[in-house]
Amino acid sequence: MKTLLLLLLAAVPAGASGRQVDIRLYSLHKIQAISLEAEDGVQVDGRNFSGKARISIKGSQVAMDGAAKAGPEKSLRVSAAGPVWLSGPGLPRRRYTGQLLFSSDKKRLKIINSVPLETYIAGVVTGEASDLSHPEAYKAQAVTARTYIVKHLKNHSGEGYHLCDSTHCQLYTGVGSVSPKARAAAEATSGELLFYKGQPAATFYHSICGGHTEEMTSVWYYDHKPYLVSVKDGPPGKPYCAIAPRFRWKTKLYYTGLTRLARQAGWILPDEQALSLRITGWSPSGRAKVLELRTQRRAVLIQGTDFYHGIGRRAGWQAVRSTAFSLLAAKDYVLLDGAGNGHGVGMCQWGAEGMARRGFKYREILKHYYPGTETGHD
Ligand SMILES: [Zn+2]
Ligand SMILES: [Zn+2]
Repeated sequence: MKTLLLLLLAAVPAGASGRQVDIRLYSLHKIQAISLEAEDGVQVDGRNFSGKARISIKGSQVAMDGAAKAGPEKSLRVSAAGPVWLSGPGLPRRRYTGQLLFSSDKKRLKIINSVPLETYIAGVVTGEASDLSHPEAYKAQAVTARTYIVKHLKNHSGEGYHLCDSTHCQLYTGVGSVSPKARAAAEATSGELLFYKGQPAATFYHSICGGHTEEMTSVWYYDHKPYLVSVKDGPPGKPYCAIAPRFRWKTKLYYTGLTRLARQAGWILPDEQALSLRITGWSPSGRAKVLELRTQRRAVLIQGTDFYHGIGRRAGWQAVRSTAFSLLAAKDYVLLDGAGNGHGVGMCQWGAEGMARRGFKYREILKHYYPGTETGHD
């Protein structure tokens, strides 16, 4: 039996759906100890606690300020009338609510935070919708986030929790910075999911589509969903997402830099040089689907998605912001004249903002980006 240290915080009323989610905190950090700060009203195993304490692993046990809990259960319970803060060397200081469970797992301190689903959603939406401002766009984002979460509750089922707090699941940094708009959107849409033929939909989304969203299969060849198809994002010449900053972008890719990146990506051999680049295939939305890179010896075909990811991972995501670009060849470089940001599949976040500002409600926004779906409750 593993030693558990349970922090039971303020009795937070459950969301309308009543569901609780268990999230592993600091999941990307290998930590053996962490600092806990609590205000008045916090209880550890029924005893009042306030101030600071260090929680660490001691073999298979968990210790508070160096003292491992004795007794058959080897557990420690803490409840509080307010939030607690966690911090440590190299760890961001974050505020949490709900219930915290500490255990020793493979020489690491394992921290699991149980919160009502809607509290978690407000936290996720705060991070994902930080560029947006209209309440209806926030509500659309809350429904996509909730649907995604419900579909992925088994991500870590063998590990004793539902979701981790990294982008592997969805980024969750606690309740310290939850925006009032995100909280209001989670509450206003409480329990609402997006369905396709009775099943929760795969709610992909991205920042800016650039005028047309992309069908899923053009990005992920192995999968297809009837509602993840290319949709025209607004009236001709006036895409909803045109309000986004950097809706259009231009990047010069010098052949010297392209050669280096193409070698690193394994597209060409170490003695080959990139001499030209052109688009030879287009997706249904007009994005670059196949690129042809010429060297002194041969022509190499690169899938648009591989190009976008390959450059992004090595040179940063600002250089080639999407595959919605055209190419203009110059002497030393090729000019990418592009629009949008992200893979283009599903909801266009800036388009949702644009639609909201034009008076559309969140359910209309969702229907636009996920044609054939409808919202409903579990
Ligand atoms: Zn995960
Ligand atoms: Zn768009």
